[in-house]
Amino acid sequence: MAVQLEPEDFAKYPFLEEAQDFVRARGYTLDRILTSSSGKIIATKAVDRILFALSSKVRFDDTIKLESVEKEILSYSIARILIVCINNRAITEKLMHYESDRVRYFLDKELTDERGSPEKKRIIIETIGIAPDQEALPVRAYVELAAGLRDDSWRLVNRDIQNGLVKIHNDEIESIVREKLRIILHKKLPREVPEEICSRLQPLIEQITRANQEHILESYGDIEEGCFPPCIKALIAAVASGANIPHTGRFAITAFLHTIGMHPAQIVEIFSQAPDFDLSRTVYQVEHITGRSGTEYTPPSCATMRTYGLCVNRDGWCEHVHHPLSYYRDRKKKEQKKSEPTD
Ligand code: SF4
Repeated sequence: MAVQLEPEDFAKYPFLEEAQDFVRARGYTLDRILTSSSGKIIATKAVDRILFALSSKVRFDDTIKLESVEKEILSYSIARILIVCINNRAITEKLMHYESDRVRYFLDKELTDERGSPEKKRIIIETIGIAPDQEALPVRAYVELAAGLRDDSWRLVNRDIQNGLVKIHNDEIESIVREKLRIILHKKLPREVPEEICSRLQPLIEQITRANQEHILESYGDIEEGCFPPCIKALIAAVASGANIPHTGRFAITAFLHTIGMHPAQIVEIFSQAPDFDLSRTVYQVEHITGRSGTEYTPPSCATMRTYGLCVNRDGWCEHVHHPLSYYRDRKKKEQKKSEPTD
């Protein structure tokens, strides 16, 4: 007998069209959710999804409860509306990773749980266009997937390509499924949310933005210039010496310093050392990059810094990172450990 997905499966895999049809068929509209008494519970669940995504401590274990199928699916949808209103790339990426990890968690349980079903795992994976025994992918599909995978082994130059197909090893399927899920979840995000809806969600948006700020401060702590990556140190030194640095460099400094918790006024102060310093123009640029425009930008990755020609003075720490922010966080953690008193 063919295996059918059941309502409980829709709570585990809310991105499925069937899951969305399931709640639509019950007459749920955004207005009804926001005004109903159960709407509060759904909204709280939606915020929790995002707060879990922001927290680095989240583990997918049996604490995940699927109390109500409808609330689970709707909280997934409201969380997505919330992040479109917030329009912060870092928060969006974290939610996409969280949701894709959550799906992966339930897919694994299909194999290990008494009530799980390997057949259901196969159905879900095939829904996203991957066969469980996929041996190769067309180059175009592969390139889209590999763009988000960091290890050098995913780079096209390191792959076996035959007749326009990139060979896939068995042990790579899990990573491919995870990445494909992340891409699909991204593509399914609402393109825009009406201003009026975002206004109604404002208290929740503020709660999330505050939590994100706290999370940033917790993960980066006090600013330690000694732990800045060499690229950022070089850019700051160049500004101080009066060199004319390109826009990409100004962007990298501003987004980096903002993300680790520096106040925009302090960032402007750094640029004030440049001989061609123009206060109003600098304030405008810094405020634009740090979120006044409604979009908060994240600093460029090492790969992008290399493309800009800004990856300079690499040192031993650079060997282990893909992002200047990881360099800073890792190095700071290590330095702090070293200075902790030993018993
Ligand atoms: S490898 Fe990354 S952190 Fe190191 S200098 Fe280059 S861009 Fe900066």
